[in-house]
Amino acid sequence: LTREEPSHFGAGPAQLPTSVLQQASKDLINFNGIGLGIGEISHRSKDATGVIENAKSHLKELMKIPDTHEVFFMQGGGTTGFSSIASNLVAAHFGKTGEVAPGGYLVTGSWSKKSFEEAKRLYVPAEVVFDAKNFNNGKYGYIPAESEWQDKVKGKKFSYMYLCENETVHGVEWPQMPKCIRDDPNIELVADLSSDILSREIDVSQYGVIMAGAQKNIGLAGLTVYIIKKEILDNISKASEDKLHELGLPITPIAFHYPTVVKNNSAYNTIPIFTLHIIDLVFQHLLKKGGVTAQGAENEKKSKLLYNALDANSQFYNLPVDASCRSRMNVVFTLKKEGLDEKFLQEANALKLTGLKGHRSVGGFRASIYNALSVEVVEKLANLVETFAKQNA
Ligand code: PLP
Repeated sequence: LTREEPSHFGAGPAQLPTSVLQQASKDLINFNGIGLGIGEISHRSKDATGVIENAKSHLKELMKIPDTHEVFFMQGGGTTGFSSIASNLVAAHFGKTGEVAPGGYLVTGSWSKKSFEEAKRLYVPAEVVFDAKNFNNGKYGYIPAESEWQDKVKGKKFSYMYLCENETVHGVEWPQMPKCIRDDPNIELVADLSSDILSREIDVSQYGVIMAGAQKNIGLAGLTVYIIKKEILDNISKASEDKLHELGLPITPIAFHYPTVVKNNSAYNTIPIFTLHIIDLVFQHLLKKGGVTAQGAENEKKSKLLYNALDANSQFYNLPVDASCRSRMNVVFTLKKEGLDEKFLQEANALKLTGLKGHRSVGGFRASIYNALSVEVVEKLANLVETFAKQNA
């Protein structure tokens, strides 16, 4: 079982380390020599429980997750996270205070916007604290300074404050978490890390909840990783569902009710254990590589290579995202000259650089340079960026 190392820049599902897939292929047929594949055994068996425990402990090690926080895995992708966050977090606030308060949303692109819309759809009170579009001529590509919006947060009650750390479609990434939220002990920061988890070191203690669909940096679609403050789990459990119902708030479906999932060690219902096994193999691969510190340095190098090549040819390429919040994972760019897009893609394909077409809502190009993509491959793309500009200027 082998393949030429791919150089695929797709935004997700993304390529994974070949060695991980080779091991997973073997384990799909015969896991640990038991004569059955990992997907063919009970999710409550010793072997499946072992996979869950290993994945949890490897993630704790990689992200230095403190004892104040719990890790669990749930079915459904990031979109399921949008709804489960809204219903669980509004319940947590009610369980803690006996009050209902809105979730606040810091909207910096289409994923945070969708998450807000889902909260509203579920009749969870929710407010947009700011929509970054309004600060940038109606387009995403900029995160306003805290001084421009912190008054909307100060002294107000929110069940939680939500943001998407890396907006995959628009290529906008928060360089760090906003200080006014981080430093406020009354606000639980909830962050979608679907497209940048494990890409750099972060301080988990500043988050109430981290949610990340697996299919970009850590595995296959189907499972979502959650890291949650234990106190929030307790508060959700304290909230009476009858009272929530009386107040017109949604009751979380049992398979997405965080305390239930945690109490059952992520196996309240059948967990896709093969998907989790791949996730754990990716965790092990990353630990061997030197953990998030080493990966973060590599990602820094990769994104610099590409942005430097684009900036050096700024008469030819347009970068729609402000330099203060450029994503290190999804590099978005367009050609200034019309009619050359197809030619650029063809030349990239000839070099086996695939998956570069931009999102349908944004156009142009998007190079997703997740953890599994090597520096050498990004170098090849940076070289193409340079030569294409010279040859077609
Ligand atoms: N959040 C982010 C940042 C994403 O990039 C995506 C999908 O690409 C999602 C959420 C939605 O994930 P899913 O398709 O797994 O529901």
